[in-house]
Amino acid sequence: MAKEKSYVMVKPGFAEHQWVIEEIKNRLHKAGLQIDEEGFVNYDKKHAREHYAEHVGKDFYPPLEKYITSGKAYGMIVSGPDAILKIRQMVGSTSNPQKGTIRADIPAMMGREVQTRENVIHASDSHASAKKEIKIFKELLNIEDDKDKSEDDKDFRVLK
Ligand code: ATP
Ligand code: MG
Repeated sequence: MAKEKSYVMVKPGFAEHQWVIEEIKNRLHKAGLQIDEEGFVNYDKKHAREHYAEHVGKDFYPPLEKYITSGKAYGMIVSGPDAILKIRQMVGSTSNPQKGTIRADIPAMMGREVQTRENVIHASDSHASAKKEIKIFKELLNIEDDKDKSEDDKDFRVLK
């Protein structure tokens, strides 16, 4: 089994619940996968369009962009044997996720209906998309870092 890297993103609305993030991380660890880098990021329109480039122009793209840019998401770079396929199987299908998959179980734990449009999680579907999505995630992490630094500067000015 080849060691692979995948990109996993807990989507806005779900990423605000720490227990959801922990539940997903537990499942990844139990599957023998490791998390190399993780953190909260905010997708703006530009980065959403890059991440979902293959869907720009489709009828469901405008609501998808609105959803993905609606709040903080939690990104993770995950690695391990056959990570890409293994995680896609753990995530479940887009339109009809089965019991035991993340897209079915998390809404059930919240007492919510499963939704195709506003689903819980994204996972890379190929090496090429993993590579592209990880690059976008790293850019977004840098933007968050810069925001933190400018907040620190503001605090410092107040203290002076
Ligand atoms: P993701 O890329 O987020 O992991 P996916 O690979 O299962 O999801 P895609 O076909 O890449 O599914 O679609 C991306 C996202 O667009 C889906 O997660 C879903 O939010 C939305 N989407 C896809 N198909 C539809 C549809 N027919 N109706 C509404 N929303 C859709
Ligand atoms: Mg996809």
